[in-house]
Amino acid sequence: MTVRTRIAPSPTGDPHVGTAYIALFNLCFARQHGGEFILRIEDTDRVRSTAESEQMILDSLRWLGLEWDEGPDVGGPHGPYRQSERGDIYAEHAQRLIDAGHAFKCYRTSEELDELREARKAQGLHLALKPADLALDPDEQARREQEGMPYVVRMQVPESGPCVVQDMLRGAIEVDWAQVDAQILLKSDGMPTYHLANVVDDHLMGITHVLRGEEWINSAPKHQLLYEYFGWDMPELCHMPLLRNPDKSKLSKRKNPTSINYYRRMGFLPQAVTNYLGRMGWSMPDEREKFSLAEMMENFDIQRVSLGGPVFDLEKLTWLNGVYLREDLDDRAFLQALMTWAFNEDYVAQILPQVRTRVDTLSDVAPLAGHFFSGLPAISEASFDGINLEREDLVKLLQFLVWRLEGVSSWNKDALLAEIKLLGSHFDLKMKALLAPVFIAITGSSSSTSVMDAMAILGSDMTRARLRHAIGVLGGVSKKQAKRFEKEYRELPAE
Ligand code: GLU
Repeated sequence: MTVRTRIAPSPTGDPHVGTAYIALFNLCFARQHGGEFILRIEDTDRVRSTAESEQMILDSLRWLGLEWDEGPDVGGPHGPYRQSERGDIYAEHAQRLIDAGHAFKCYRTSEELDELREARKAQGLHLALKPADLALDPDEQARREQEGMPYVVRMQVPESGPCVVQDMLRGAIEVDWAQVDAQILLKSDGMPTYHLANVVDDHLMGITHVLRGEEWINSAPKHQLLYEYFGWDMPELCHMPLLRNPDKSKLSKRKNPTSINYYRRMGFLPQAVTNYLGRMGWSMPDEREKFSLAEMMENFDIQRVSLGGPVFDLEKLTWLNGVYLREDLDDRAFLQALMTWAFNEDYVAQILPQVRTRVDTLSDVAPLAGHFFSGLPAISEASFDGINLEREDLVKLLQFLVWRLEGVSSWNKDALLAEIKLLGSHFDLKMKALLAPVFIAITGSSSSTSVMDAMAILGSDMTRARLRHAIGVLGGVSKKQAKRFEKEYRELPAE
């Protein structure tokens, strides 16, 4: 048997370090067994998935050196590798389950579902809706069917009793079926849910081992049951520990930069980031901190993964990156790295329109455009002296902007402008007044190139990191303030 693993990202935002981490471990596991590593795009959420996000994910993983053998861009014998192109396959498999009595059409309306949940809650029952709860009397079912009312396809699940799932790292995981609902497999628009598409594809693509984040553990009983219904062997499951912030909370973009784009823009070397991700819950047999991807593949042993939540610590990564820069790169390689990073035609060409109308000599360029080539600007409280806002309002404005920007999925100038306008009306500030502190936070000075363009070019995570840095130098947000801010923030229209 050839070992085949996969990474199955959903292209719904920035390329996440967590995706790279899981990809790395899948790749190492496959290579260590002389196997194959596949990339599959799980874009069944048609509203949130974008081609732009997919491209960024592919670019980022490749930048990190994590190459796949089959995928939407390189092809392979089990394609298509994009779930949105496999609709017929899922419909056919859902029908198979219906025919065998393992799945059923559910015509319940969303109001009815709410009522059913309320009723269960009132009785102190688990909220998982069961086939018996959902069943309509046969006449009503027939009427709705005849009228062509919208329906979803749900799977049959046992009422109660133990379900045991084996995990490569955790051993037997026991779940009570009572907690598992009659999962939707096909949505009313005919699109599959993650569960159906994931199981069908893992089987058809010959996946032998599924290494994925521990947030998917709760899905495992449903998946196991689907494999049984189809009469297929289930791949071995391995749920990896989640990456954590230094305060042990789940790694999230609210606290830390989570996009690979940020690390790239910040000037981290891909080999250092990959090495650091390899240290997340795993160590080399000799415990050395610095190792290459090839060394990791050679020495990989999944049983060396420890389940205590690995901490993704920016300071440690920065230290390791420094070691690489100082010790690994000779002058030539350093120069090359610098040019690949930002001193290249592509990037400088993006900056050019920002500076060329504002300079008299070429030597004016560097001082004017320095913020495009730096990390967090050297600002202090005093940098904001000229801003005509109360301290609390100033911090609130920056904080609201950070929160709004977290929700921007398509990062471009128009989307940013919409957010700025919205905040302008909320704070009753003219564009210029609103942008003044943002300007300082992003460019580090009070006069520079266009701040909107700078944000668009620097990207979401770098922009938010600079805004958060500014909030920090202004004294941060106290717990009390945060509560007040959050309350007021909820008045803003949804993103
Ligand atoms: N599409 C899922 C994700 O975004 C894949 C989960 C899995 O590996 O099964 O993480």
